[in-house]
Amino acid sequence: MYCQVIVDIVHENVAKPFTYSVPEGMELSEGQRVAVPFGRMQKEGVVIALTEQSGIDIGRIRSVIRPLEDYAAIPPELMALAKEMAGQAHCPLAETLRLMLPAQLRGGRVRPRTVKAVQLAVPREEAEDVIRQEKRAGKRIQLLTNLLDGEARPVQALSAIVKNPREALRKLEQDGLIRISEEEIMRTPEASFTEVSDPGWELTADQKDALDEILPALKSGEGRFLLHGVTGSGKTEVFMAAVKETLALGRSAIILVPEIALTPQMVSWFRGRFGAVAAVIHSRLSAGERYDEWRRILRGEARVVIGARSAVFSPVRDLGLIVIDEEHESTYLNDHRPRYDTRDTAASRCRREGATLILASATPSILSFARARRGDYMLLEMPRRVGGHPLPEVLVTDMRQELENGNRSVFSGVLHKALKDCIARNEQAILLMNRRGYNSFVSCRSCGYVVKCPNCDISMTYHTDSQSGLLRCHYCGYAQMPPSVCPECQSRYIRYFGAGTQKVEEEIRKQFPGVTVARMDYDTTSGKDGHGKILEEFRSGRARILIGTQMIAKGLDFPRVTLVGIIAADLALNLPDYRSRERAFQLFTQVAGRAGRGDRKGKVIIQTYRPEDPVIGFAARQDYRAFFESEFRRRRNSLYPPFTNLARILAESEREEAAEKAIAEMERDVRKMTEDSPALGKKVLAMVNEVPSVRFLRGKHRRQLLMKTLVSAETDELFGKITDLIAQPRDGVEVILEINPTTML
Ligand code: ADP
Ligand code: ZN
Ligand code: ZN
Repeated sequence: MYCQVIVDIVHENVAKPFTYSVPEGMELSEGQRVAVPFGRMQKEGVVIALTEQSGIDIGRIRSVIRPLEDYAAIPPELMALAKEMAGQAHCPLAETLRLMLPAQLRGGRVRPRTVKAVQLAVPREEAEDVIRQEKRAGKRIQLLTNLLDGEARPVQALSAIVKNPREALRKLEQDGLIRISEEEIMRTPEASFTEVSDPGWELTADQKDALDEILPALKSGEGRFLLHGVTGSGKTEVFMAAVKETLALGRSAIILVPEIALTPQMVSWFRGRFGAVAAVIHSRLSAGERYDEWRRILRGEARVVIGARSAVFSPVRDLGLIVIDEEHESTYLNDHRPRYDTRDTAASRCRREGATLILASATPSILSFARARRGDYMLLEMPRRVGGHPLPEVLVTDMRQELENGNRSVFSGVLHKALKDCIARNEQAILLMNRRGYNSFVSCRSCGYVVKCPNCDISMTYHTDSQSGLLRCHYCGYAQMPPSVCPECQSRYIRYFGAGTQKVEEEIRKQFPGVTVARMDYDTTSGKDGHGKILEEFRSGRARILIGTQMIAKGLDFPRVTLVGIIAADLALNLPDYRSRERAFQLFTQVAGRAGRGDRKGKVIIQTYRPEDPVIGFAARQDYRAFFESEFRRRRNSLYPPFTNLARILAESEREEAAEKAIAEMERDVRKMTEDSPALGKKVLAMVNEVPSVRFLRGKHRRQLLMKTLVSAETDELFGKITDLIAQPRDGVEVILEINPTTML
């Protein structure tokens, strides 16, 4: 017998499988991990095929050293998925196989936890005879008496009955009366969860309608749905019912949520609802817990898996359902190697394994909604909130007017008054101040004009960290000095947008002395469980106002919140990214959805210098459809994804000239390819060789080649060829290809 093994090495030159012989008496199966000799070293690998013939010179074949586990760590469905993904991402199979295994398994960094356990080795009668014959009830007899029922007992448990039992146990073992063995114990996280049982609600009409479509699909093992339900429409309850049905059919379910939503509250809630068949995978698990959860899933003991992106690779038995909650979140796109979009990966798994897919959101991504409209997904809509709660009222305030009236504080008159009333009524407020990264854009406080790139219709970025003080376009590299007077209205109030969450907190303290504030942003949540503590302070009601970045927009359910203020809508609208309008609309809708979830009506105030921006209008009316139509049209007219691909080849090196040289060579090669093939040439719309806005990162100089291409077979082929090109070893330069990455900094 021979086997083909993918050796776990990150090196392009060893992407292909190696043949090893299987020693007599060793049983191996596909997907099993093995230790193999590799050069003068020993390496780990995965068996991808077993064959009778070797196909190569027998004399040179070496043999497998040993299996690493006595089971296949990668089941056949995941093996097929890994192969498909490697083909699509143009990357070695070793890289996609790695996604299918818990990181700790590789390199043997975790092992099952075992304890010494003791068990009777003879029939009960025989042991009873021994006990009767003994006159004095010493340690041996006491131990034996406690083992009469034949159960295996941990040595530790016996020490509670008999002090220092080891010597006595050794004697009993020598006499052949007991057996001492290693027993495995599972490290199950949150084993002591608070019991939250099924509330047994009567489903709303919208929930029933959605389930009327989903439940039959589960039975026949098919169906792809996009569940578009407004905030508070009760989407979670729909998944729960779908999961319950999946379990009743004897199958398994995977529920994917953004990592940030995996709060302890949510975890205990799932555990409470589904008990021990639920495995919850989140970043706070220890290596051992993660490994044990993975094995519980592999063995079919856990049949509902809740986790972030990577849980889509859970080796569940008989997959029946995958749910992707908040499907519009950018965390579902993995833009490191190997690149994948969780939504596509899930769709592929569901197709292969005969399972149902549900994508859910209050603000679906442009891509998914476009697909639903085309008929790839069945659209299920839940336009009403549970319990007849109305959607909150949204007001837009014009900050240009405020400036004219002499108000230079971060709060408009309307928001200030609303905050005062909210506090007086003993209710709570959320203030959003989203600010990402250290870069900003330049805008006019008098008329709202924003400096945009003349080539790209994208706001230009001002680098607050650089000395140059230049404005740059992230897409095409165009640069210019920031204007000192506004080209539209000649005002001198034109500068970069500088305020952050801290500034908002200071203002609250000044304007509302004595009111307790909680602030949640990157700085305040970095400590262990900083996140949970801040939310707890707000949940308990100790803090009356929660200030935060986009972190606070997601899935929080605080019934006492009646006011949401979006301090600077312009910050979200003007991120230098073609998706900024989509993200801004999502952010405003999601954060507005935090207001009025209890019995009292909610109010949302959007502050902006551009009230005439259509996105502000769509958000104010909470009109997803109108937003979608407008954005879809804009993407088509300006040639942005999903109509095109934005790709970049990025070179990083400690030596600046080396990075520059690598990109120059890539540009030369790619240009040659487009010149050689006119069909391809027509599909490549733009190509720019430039210095990225982050020119130096983690000790490396960076250069990039940006490309905008139409979506086509020719350009797919081009990306394949580029992948082969960048795989060639270069001295001290790392080159990567990214297609529609989440950021291009
Ligand atoms: P969404 O995820 O769509 O924003 P949720 O699933 O958070 O909405 O549901 C909103 C609130 O309504 C939650 O507090 C939930 O527990 C509650 N809820 C959901 N379905 C029902 C129902 N059928 N009857 C009563 N309350 C419900
Ligand atoms: Zn102006
Ligand atoms: Zn540009």
